[in-house]
Amino acid sequence: MFKDMFKRDSSLSFEVFPPKKDDEFENCYKVLDSLATLEPDFISVTYGAGGSRSKKTVDIANYIQNTLKLDAMAHMTCVGSTQDDILAVTKDLEAVGVSHVLALRGDKPRDMSDEQFEQRIFPHATDLIHFLNQNTSLKVSASCYPEKHPEAISMDSDIAFMKMKQDMGAEMFISQLFFDNADFYRFVERADKAGITVPIVAGIMPITSAKQIGSTVTLAGSSVSKKLADICARYGEDADAMRSAGIEYAISQINDLRKCGMGHIHIYCMNKPKMTAEICDAIK
Ligand code: FAD
Repeated sequence: MFKDMFKRDSSLSFEVFPPKKDDEFENCYKVLDSLATLEPDFISVTYGAGGSRSKKTVDIANYIQNTLKLDAMAHMTCVGSTQDDILAVTKDLEAVGVSHVLALRGDKPRDMSDEQFEQRIFPHATDLIHFLNQNTSLKVSASCYPEKHPEAISMDSDIAFMKMKQDMGAEMFISQLFFDNADFYRFVERADKAGITVPIVAGIMPITSAKQIGSTVTLAGSSVSKKLADICARYGEDADAMRSAGIEYAISQINDLRKCGMGHIHIYCMNKPKMTAEICDAIK
């Protein structure tokens, strides 16, 4: 199914996060039920950087795959994991029939010392991809960064490591969020020249409150376009107007991507089915 979506000019997938607390699962399932009505090509589920909440990722991926009968992709980070930890999670995923993972290094967890970070067992996502391909039958995708990863010394080096991810077996890339499509177009051109041949899916995050800029977006290292900064300045204090303007901005990004032949879109939907439905309706 993942492969089939690239036979078409466009596809839509969503990213959700698992609930933090056990008593929030029911609500998360309701969110997923609503998202499923939008018929996404797949839904991906995030993973805690340290791996401590991996069971929740597996449980949510299980629900997507087996109750909703949609393709699930489980994110997996390796920054705080041993080989045995990774094998235990892959076993859990395989047991519930989830066969696709997004292999990531992850950020340094708060409770990890610099020394532990320096001595981590899997230094990079490339090491995790290699390990998964050697030891499991999972299909593996990876991340990429249209404005380069914040730690990368240059765009060229970041793209060289992206190529390494492909050479190690990554079948698809999902991009970090970006707000200026020109950055994405330039990036895809450079990746193409560097020999990236697997599909690159564009990650779109709708900004429905100005607070998101200070939290999620800063963490991601993405730059805020002038147009989006103006929207936040103008509507930031008016929750409804900000929500509408942010959704409108995401819709215009997606429409432009589709027009430019880059119609494979992954919406960072932040477990907000109503917002996601409004976007899906508008881009039909
Ligand atoms: P890497 O690919 O390892 O890259 C990290 C840095 O190392 C880069 O600067 C890169 O250029 C460099 N590098 C890469 N390979 C090598 C190598 N072999 N040798 C030397 N240098 C190398 N985080 C979570 O905690 N949970 C999630 O669920 C999650 N989902 C995400 C989904 C997407 C689509 C994206 C784009 C990011 C996600 N993240 C998630 C965030 C991600 O974990 C961070 O961006 C993290 O800092 C880097 O992870 P990575 O897999 O991209 O790292």
